[in-house]
Amino acid sequence: MKVRVNQDACIGCGACLAICEDVFDMNENGLSQVKVDTVPEDKVEACKEALESCPTGAISEE
Ligand code: SF4
Repeated sequence: MKVRVNQDACIGCGACLAICEDVFDMNENGLSQVKVDTVPEDKVEACKEALESCPTGAISEE
């Protein structure tokens, strides 16, 4: 699984980091970014939860 964060849609709420800090990180602009190339197998469920929890739909699966 690969995911990306649309920087134009992210509002920096931090929800995705709270749910899956191994995949998401805050960049210097206070917005979420993906810090892994491929989501580790044991983080896929949490990552999907983060994707579904994003209030602006900024996270998408590639
Ligand atoms: S949950 Fe969505 S809006 Fe909030 S920081 Fe993550 S990508 Fe951005």
